Amino acid sequence: MHHKTFLAIIAVVHDSAVTVADRRMQRAAEVVAALTTERKPGPIEVEYPATTICFDGTWHKRGHSSNNGVDVAIDRKTGLVLDTQILSNYYQGCEVRPKPNDHNNLQWQAGHVCQRNFEGSSNAMKAETPVAIFQRSIDIQICGLVYIVAFCVMEMRNHSRK
Ligand SMILES: [Zn+2]
Repeated sequence: MHHKTFLAIIAVVHDSAVTVADRRMQRAAEVVAALTTERKPGPIEVEYPATTICFDGTWHKRGHSSNNGVDVAIDRKTGLVLDTQILSNYYQGCEVRPKPNDHNNLQWQAGHVCQRNFEGSSNAMKAETPVAIFQRSIDIQICGLVYIVAFCVMEMRNHSRK
C-alpha cells in the first residue's frame, strides 16, 4: 500500500473514532448528570448536576521524557469516561521540514498543519492535562455537569513490551 493511501485511511479511521468517542462521552455526561445533583444553598436554593471525577493517564514511555500523554476523566460512581486529553510536544512532520534557507521552506510552512499541541517538558505536560480537561468542562458545560471534586493518579505507565 502506498504511504499516501495509508495516511488517507488513517485520517478516516481517526475522524470516525473521534466522532464515536465524542458521542459516547456526551451520552456518559447525560447519564451522570441525571444521576447526581448538588444543592447550592442561599436565598434561592439551586440544584445542579455535579459529580466527582478521577483522572488517570498513560504515557508513551517512562522516565519523564515522554513526548505524548493521554489523560482520561472518569466519573467516580459510574466509571464512565467523560472526557479525554491528548498532549504531544513532538511531531515528526516538524522534524523533517526543509532547512530555513531551502527554497521549499516557504511552501512547507504554508501547507504545514502542526499536530504538536503542547510546548514544554514531559512533566509540565502531565500537570497540564487535568487543567485542560477542567477548562474544557467550564467552556462547554456538558449538560450543565459540574466536576466538584477531582482525584489525580500521578503514576506513569507505558505500553512498551520489553
Ligand atoms: Zn509543526
